[in-house]
This record gives sequence, structure tokens and C-alpha cells, in this order.
Amino acid sequence: MELVRRAQGISPSPTLTIDSRAKAMKAAGANVINFGVGEPDFDTPEHIKAAAVAAIQSGMTKYTAVGGIIELRRVIADKLRAENGLDYKPEEIIVSAGAKHSLYNAFQVLCQEGDEVILPEPYWVSYLEQIKLTGARPVLVKTTLESGFKLTPEQLRSAITPRSKVLVLNSPSNPTGAVYSRRELEGLAEVVLGSNIGVISDEIYEKLLYDGEEHISIASLDTRLKERTVVINGVSKAYAMTGWRIGYAAAPLAVTKAMTDLQSHSTSNPTSIAQAATVAALAGDQSALQEMLRQFTERREYILGRLAGIDGVRCTRPGGAFYAYPHMGAFWGRKYGDNEVNSGTDLAKLLLEEQQVALVPGITFGDDDYIRLSYAAGLDTIREGLDRIEAWLKALR
Ligand code: PMP
Ligand code: GLU
Repeated sequence: MELVRRAQGISPSPTLTIDSRAKAMKAAGANVINFGVGEPDFDTPEHIKAAAVAAIQSGMTKYTAVGGIIELRRVIADKLRAENGLDYKPEEIIVSAGAKHSLYNAFQVLCQEGDEVILPEPYWVSYLEQIKLTGARPVLVKTTLESGFKLTPEQLRSAITPRSKVLVLNSPSNPTGAVYSRRELEGLAEVVLGSNIGVISDEIYEKLLYDGEEHISIASLDTRLKERTVVINGVSKAYAMTGWRIGYAAAPLAVTKAMTDLQSHSTSNPTSIAQAATVAALAGDQSALQEMLRQFTERREYILGRLAGIDGVRCTRPGGAFYAYPHMGAFWGRKYGDNEVNSGTDLAKLLLEEQQVALVPGITFGDDDYIRLSYAAGLDTIREGLDRIEAWLKALR
């Protein structure tokens, strides 16, 4: 059977591919250190699991409303009001099978052939593929380490054309950890409001903030902006619930309705049991989150300190998420045995083969002079992984 062009153009998620490879090596007995995937290593908090068990026992095992049970959408509306200063009705919220699915639905109903989507680079890899799947053209706008990997209003202004449809914003960012301040967002908001574009604002890392950073949702800056923003969020990262597959979007009613109609013909409702667990996550005790954040903070300090101690590595201090995104260009041209190292891809391949350390090459996010290390692993594991990386880099000739 012949695949259509659309299917031939899709590349598999490199983050998930590297994770599968690392997990397979581990299962085969290798002592692998996995800095690959962005998945909290903590277990889902007990009270969340208990809510899922109770849902099963009480027979909540049937189809639900396509966009999620009303109780969950109310809890999400309360959360958005209390924490983000955003006033949405439950009808303006749709719950999907992970934030990746929420994003997919949003791109599908907002973008098509002939449209341009403005995507700051480095970008999380699935944005690029999801944009391409709609037929729209991704317009990459490069941000630099020197500017803290943040899009400036001037850059945005010059990227906008009559074909521009939406801007993708991701603060805190995967892979750079960059967090936009209120002032920086106000600068972007002014440009957005002076044009016809909308915004897809992925806020999934909002709870993972360091150094007193504050999360601001761009939609909260102006009601006119809220009317053309889709806010994306989910429970995977904040509540260590990656496997439960719950994400959500809040948007103007017409957009939410289109996304819900699309979802009604694909996955239908997200899993009923996971929805019950998400009510407990969002409305229940938040103390587990504090403990996870404490540990992430400790690991972040450690990993940044170690990277700063390696000659040639340049890394920003990320304000959020759980990734370090160092520039490794100083090592290009050096050799490991007969292998010359010229890119993040070379480095990731050799480190996995030679040192059993999994990490993600920067090409995944648009620039192969970088690598991404996810610090979603215990401190001892991180220490061991960095020992291996440091010794290996020092052995390059
Ligand atoms: N957005 C970003 C920036 C991410 O890193 C991820 C990670 N998986 C997602 C969305 C999707 O998360 P999930 O589908 O697990 O909710
Ligand atoms: N978003 C995470 C990452 O970047 C999880 C993997 C994925 O969904 O692609 O590693």
C-alpha cells in the first residue's frame, strides 16, 4: 500500500525514540543514564492514584462527554481563574489525551495550506511536525543564547506577513527553560494586537519555575488577546502524570467547539479514569508538587554547576522546566578514536554507544550546536552521568 505525501513527511518524535532506545538498553542490562526524555521520574502522588482507583470502583468506566466531564472542566476553569487570572467558562475548555493532543487539535482547526505559523527556535519538536501536518508553513525565528532564547517584539514584527496565522509561544520553554517576563510578553502582545495573528500558548511547564521567576499567561494581559489565544496546559509535568494522558486547552468558544468536534471523530473523550485523577490533581493537595520542585531545584543547581565547570560548554541558567541546553560547538572537530565529533547528533550517538548516556541532540529543536539534558533523574544518577560526560569530553583529541 502506498503512503500519502502527508504520512511520508512525518518523522518520529526523536525525544520518544531516544527514550525507547535508552529504556531498551537498560532492559538488556546496560547501565544507562537517561538524560533523554522530559518525564518526571517521580511517582504520581498517592491521592491522585486513589482517585483513579475510586473512579474504577464506582463504575466510572464509560464514555464521557467528548471534551471531558463537566466537573473537570469546572476545576480547570477555577484553576485558570485563580492561578492565571483567566476567566473561561467550562464550555470554552476541552480536555484531550495529553497536551500534545490538545496542540494537535488546535493546529488542525486553526491552520491550513497557505498559512504561516511563526515558531521561535529552539522549538519543541512536535510543534514543527504538527504544523507541517496541517499543510501550513512553519516560519522559524531564531533566538540566541545571548538573548536568553527569547523572541523579541522586533523579531516578531519582521516575521509577520499577510499569511501569518498564529505565533507559538512556550514559556517556560522546552528545551531552553526560558521564561518570558510580564514586560517581555507585553512587548510581544502589542505586536500581536497590531496584527491579525493569534497565539497558541503552551504553558505546560508553568509550575516548574526557579530563581523567583513568575509565570504569566499572555492571554491574561488583555481581553482582546484572550479572544485570539489558545492556552494549552496539562498534568504530565507538574503532577508526574505523563502516562495518564491528560492535557487541556482553553480558547474562544468557536475554537473549542471545532476542537471538540474534531476530537469527537478521533479519540472521543480522554480516559474517564484519568479525568477523575486529574480532578484530584488540580483540586487536591498540592504539597507533592512543592517537594518535586524542591528536588528539581537541587538538581538544577548541581547540573548547571557541573556544566559551568567543563571547559568549552556554554549554558544559560534556565528559569523553568527541567532541561539544561548547553552549547557544545567548542568541541566540534575533535576526535574520539576515529570518529570526528561535529554536531549534537554525533555527540549524542557516541555518548550513548560509548558511555551509555542518553541525551537529545539540538537538531531536534533546530540547532545541532546544542544538546539537551533532562534532569528528571535522581542526583546520584545525574552525578554519575555528568562524570561520564565530563571524562569523555576531556578525552576528545
Ligand atoms: N508541550 C511541551 C513543550 C512538552 O515538552 C510536552 C512534553 N511531552 C508536551 C507539550 C506534551 O505533554 P503531554 O502530551 O504529555 O501532556
Ligand atoms: N516533551 C517531552 C520531551 O521533550 C516528552 C517527550 C515527547 O512528548 O516528545 O522529552
